[in-house]
Amino acid sequence: MALITGNKCGDEEMGALGLESEVAEARTAFDSGKTKGFEWRKSQLKALLRLLREKEEDMFKVLKEDLGKHRVEAFRDEVGALTTSVDNALLNLKKWMAPEKVSLPLGAVLTVAEIVPEPLGVVLVISSWNFPIGLSLEPLIGAIAAGNAAVLKPSELAPATSEFLAVEVPKYLDCEAIKVIQGAPQVAKELLDLKWDKIFFTGSARVGRIVMTAAAKHLTPVTLELGGKCPAIFDSLKSSRDQKMAVGRVAGAKWGSCLGQACIGIDYLLVTDEYAPTLIELLKGVIKEFFSNSEHLARIVNKHHFQRLCNLLQDESVAASVVHGGSVNAKELFIEPTILLNPPLDKEIMTEEIFGPLLPIITLKKIEDSIEFLRARPKPLVIYAFTHDEKFKRRIVEDTSSGCVMFNDTLIQYLCDTIPFGGVGQSGFGQYHGKFTFDNFSNRKPVGRRRFLIEFSFRYPPWNEKKLQLLRHIYRFDYIGFVLCFLGLKRYSYRS
Ligand code: NAD
Repeated sequence: MALITGNKCGDEEMGALGLESEVAEARTAFDSGKTKGFEWRKSQLKALLRLLREKEEDMFKVLKEDLGKHRVEAFRDEVGALTTSVDNALLNLKKWMAPEKVSLPLGAVLTVAEIVPEPLGVVLVISSWNFPIGLSLEPLIGAIAAGNAAVLKPSELAPATSEFLAVEVPKYLDCEAIKVIQGAPQVAKELLDLKWDKIFFTGSARVGRIVMTAAAKHLTPVTLELGGKCPAIFDSLKSSRDQKMAVGRVAGAKWGSCLGQACIGIDYLLVTDEYAPTLIELLKGVIKEFFSNSEHLARIVNKHHFQRLCNLLQDESVAASVVHGGSVNAKELFIEPTILLNPPLDKEIMTEEIFGPLLPIITLKKIEDSIEFLRARPKPLVIYAFTHDEKFKRRIVEDTSSGCVMFNDTLIQYLCDTIPFGGVGQSGFGQYHGKFTFDNFSNRKPVGRRRFLIEFSFRYPPWNEKKLQLLRHIYRFDYIGFVLCFLGLKRYSYRS
């Protein structure tokens, strides 16, 4: 039995309670039915909003401590974005919970139906360290809105944030139904051994496989929010104003969000041989403009990841491709924004997710060749493309596959609650944000209703040709033919 840390109901020490009893308590809370009611959901969401407002400074502090995030970046990517999400959930909660009327085909005449969203039960949310508050609480918002009890396991690699969540969440939320359990992978493994009604995982594909394997034991549904190499295609934009704006957006997505440690950050750029020198100069300019003060950049999360990134650069052929930056500061866990031109495609920097401030630029003869380049690789979470060419845009949408396509901007799609967020193929599956999170944590249960007004005996044996004909009318949506045939006014008109 693993031990857990954190506080129970605010002040009372949780101590060494077992995982199982914590989860059992969440199950009891769910089984009591209290999480299903509108009032409970609303009160929990309001409490979460209060936490976000009252503890903003504390969150800035722990995000600075774990990741060196500037408070503005912390607000933009995590605290502020979450506030909008909770506001949105509160605003729409009644609508989301309401049964949805559906129309039925002729075959179900005199039947009515609706889709009733029901909570799944007790759900497990396992999150990653790079947006340790955002990626923990964003799924939780939908889990609560959908009426579930939930257990959150934040990442041990953001220890200050993990501790903050374990201490503060129980103070604000219903600590019987919503649990935060801190711990290393071993704790996550033990949690995965238990029975859940849904597992929502954000992290690497490697651990995603472990999660799916564990989920298979109980046939638990899973959502996997994974990573990968998100490319940005950079066409030679005509006006210098557009070029400058586009390069700023690339820099924002590569270095300006957790120093490149973002699943939707740009991993590498695709550009033509001809345009590459111009692009490199533009990038150097924007790095100087945005990031001269390194305090405005986050830090690499820990020594292990710092060393992993340094190792990528130490390969001789990769080192030779550095055209800007490359300096590192081990004490500060800092790597400066670095640009590489055509590092070998078979080296780790181009086969694995970089997850750091190294930006390879891969050159192609024609920008259209980028489609084949992408098709030959695993499906990414996002494909970014900077282009004015409408025909090319259509081809990117139609001829490639990814969790999302974003033209001429970066990252902003994450903040749009009205579009689903998620991966495809190796970048994961299952979608969330806004109503999509509510649906993710709900069973959309169809409920049909019929009265005993009349019986359609043609649905049952003994069979005859008239019954066959009536069924043909029904399955062809031929209402008039059906009525005429039913009343005996029309004989067989359809042949199969
Ligand atoms: P990770 O897979 O190492 O860890 C994620 C979580 O899994 C952590 O809470 C960790 O404690 C737990 N874990 C680790 N090993 C485990 C094991 N053996 N068994 C069970 N649980 C285990 O990922 P990470 O390093 O935290 O995050 C980086 C990865 O996450 C990158 O690949 C990134 O692209 C991806 N990511 C995806 C999204 C998204 O929304 N799609 C967001 C952020 C990060």
